[in-house]
This record gives sequence, C-alpha cells and structure tokens, in this order.
Amino acid sequence: MTRSEELFERARAVIPGGVNSPVRAFGAVGGVPVFMAAGEGASIEDADGRRFVDYVQSWGALLFGHAHPDIVRAAADMAAQGTSFGAPTEAEVRLAEEIVAAVPSLDMVRLTSSGTEAAMSAVRLARAFTGRPRVVKFAGCYHGHADSLLAEAGSGLATFGIPASPGITDGAARDTLVLPYNEPGAVAEAFEAAGDQIAAVIVEPVAANMGVIPPEAGFLETLRGITSEHGALLLFDEVITGFRLARGGAQALYGVTPDLTLLGKVMGGGFPCAAYGGSAEIMGRVAPAGDVYQAGTLSGNPVAVAAGLTALGLIRGRDPYPALEKTATALVEGITDALTSAGVPHTINRVESLFSVFFTDTTIRGFEDVRGADHERYARFFHALLKRGIYLPPSGYEAWFLSTAHGDAEIERTVEAVREAATAIG
Ligand code: PLP
Repeated sequence: MTRSEELFERARAVIPGGVNSPVRAFGAVGGVPVFMAAGEGASIEDADGRRFVDYVQSWGALLFGHAHPDIVRAAADMAAQGTSFGAPTEAEVRLAEEIVAAVPSLDMVRLTSSGTEAAMSAVRLARAFTGRPRVVKFAGCYHGHADSLLAEAGSGLATFGIPASPGITDGAARDTLVLPYNEPGAVAEAFEAAGDQIAAVIVEPVAANMGVIPPEAGFLETLRGITSEHGALLLFDEVITGFRLARGGAQALYGVTPDLTLLGKVMGGGFPCAAYGGSAEIMGRVAPAGDVYQAGTLSGNPVAVAAGLTALGLIRGRDPYPALEKTATALVEGITDALTSAGVPHTINRVESLFSVFFTDTTIRGFEDVRGADHERYARFFHALLKRGIYLPPSGYEAWFLSTAHGDAEIERTVEAVREAATAIG
C-alpha cells in the first residue's frame, strides 16, 4: 500500500469523498488521488517521496512556482509578527493600491478570502446597484460555489456529471440564466426577452473551467455593448486570468472594460486572498461606505496579504509574461508534435500561457464541444503521464497551469513523457 492509498482510506472516513475540494478526488480519471507533501518551483513531491513536474500549480495560484523564496519569507516574517488582527493594516492598503494600479477598470477593491466570496459579493452588489434580480452566466464557466452561480458550472460539476447541485432553491435557480459561451445571439435574445430584469452578465473572459476556451472575436465586445445598452453590469471573473494572462488581466489583453472584476489565485501568492472591485461609484455601495453588506473575519489576512504583495511586486518588477508565453509555445508545439506523430486526434486551445489539451479533432468553442471530447482517453493519458513523473490536472475539463519555474528541462521531460504516453494510450 502506498502512503497516498493509506491516507485516502483514512481521509474518506472523516472527509466527504476524502478531499476538501471535489476535483482533487480523481473522480474523472479514476484511481487514488496523490497526496502531496512538498513543492519546489515547477515540481511537487508526494507523500511517498515521488517527484512530479506540476501543471496544476495549486490550480493557477502559483505563478512563480512552489515555495518561491521571496513569497515564503514575506509570509513567514509577517506570521512572526502576528497572523491575524481583525483590524486594518498598512499592507492591505498597499495591496489594494497595487491591484488598482494594475487592472484597468478598477478604482477600488474589497479583499475577500476566496474567489467564491468575491463572486457572490459582486453579484449581490450588482443586484443592489441595478435593483434587478437576474444574472446571466455561461455554460461551463465557474464562478465559485455560491447558489446562484452553480448552474452548469464547468469542471468540478462536469467531472462528476452534475448539472447543478441539490440544495439550491428554485428561486435561486430561476434568477440565473445560463447561456452558451461564444454565442452573442443568445445574449441578445435573453436581453430582448427580459433585459429589464437582468442585473449582470458574469463571464470568464477566457473560459478556463471547461478547459481553455478563448472568447471569439467580438464576443466580449458584444457583452459590453448589450449590458451598457440595457443598464446591466458586466462582471469579468478574472480569478484565473487576472495577473496570469497579463498584469492587467484579460481586460487589458482584449481591451474590454467590465463594471466589476473578480480576482483571486495569483494575487494571493498561494494563500487565501481574493478581491472584487470596480468603479468608485459602484464600490461606494459596499458597506460600510454604502448599504450592501459583506464582511470577513480573515479578509485581508496579513499573512496572505504579505504573500500577495510580494507576488504582485515580482510581477511588476519582472514582467514574467513574455517568458511564460515562450514556455507555453514551446510546450504546446512539443505536445502537438508528439500527439500528431502518434496519430492521436487532439485540439489544443491556448491563450498566452493558459492552455488545455482536448482529445478530439473538432474545434472547441463551447461547453458542448468539450463534453464531446474523449475524456476516457484523457484519463488514460493522465495516468500514463503520472507514471512518468508528470502531474496534470486530473480532469479533461481543466486548464494546465505553468509557472515561471517551468523551463527547458521541464518542457523536454514533459514532451518526452507525452511521446511515450501517446503511444501507450493508442
Ligand atoms: N472563478 C473562477 C474563474 C475560478 O476558476 C474559481 C476557482 O477555481 C473561482 C471563481 C472560485 O474561487 P475559489 O476556489 O477561491 O473560491
């Protein structure tokens, strides 16, 4: 019995499904989840002492790889001075200033501890600001697990074949309109039918929770136009794309300005820290400046803020994006070549350093296309690579995440493993 097998058995007795977030359970790929013990740069080490090149990177939170010394030092130094005060700190002000300076649409941000809280709070704010109840989301986009945002919410649910979760009231479900991604016509129809009821359109500007799907030319612009026309707010969920595609996120890359932005993952440097923000006018409605309540015991936690500030400082100082893009290009070229040589049908979608591999030869532009890919083949591919020391996201509905610590050696090792795996999975 491996240590992971032993731990999983114990975990299942005391934690539902043995994990604290469903996709970790390997439900989509089968087998026993690998329990991790340590990480360094691009690599991660399991409880049995095996090392892997890691393409999960804490689901995108680690832009600079595991245990970056500057981030670790900043967090440890802060922890030694106090782990939580429940009172404002200077570092929170600096983090907010750093975020506002980087992301084009932001005058103000409120820090939360998770992307879920940020999304839930932003939707509440949008409803209060517009005085309307309904929210438009897109099939396959994930915005955390708040009730009104959990319909057809991509990876975690898709992995387990769950369309929405029991426990969500009909009222919450009724106020959420789910439309197909990359179909501006469907958005126009929804607004024609119920435009005066719609508070917000929430979207991942590059979808990354059904694998990576770029917005087609004009899609984001159409969302901007229709929401403005009807007095609804446009919410960009940049929990994945923020500080990953560019310092200013997808909104800087595509030149489309949302009303509210959600951030998380990278901005916390691997600690629980997220944010939502927008114009001073809209954010001025958030308590205690305004009447829309939202709070958190550990919001703006000093240790998380110290880590986040360090990560964002590294981004500002180093501009890591050209190197990340170069790594992604080389890796995707290598994977494409290996799969093509072995005659394995595949499609790779990539935006900057964010990409995923689908086993199908059709174009992937929406959730239905992703459902149609060969997920059993992905499962075989995943295990063939795991055996060869490469740790991929354990579901074909997920993005692969790179860090600045992934270099030529990791690319070479990965492409070689893909070449062997491609033959092995047939
Ligand atoms: N939004 C997006 C785009 C995400 O990918 C996620 C998490 O993966 C969330 C929101 C929720 O963030 P958290 O898991 O921090 O609650």
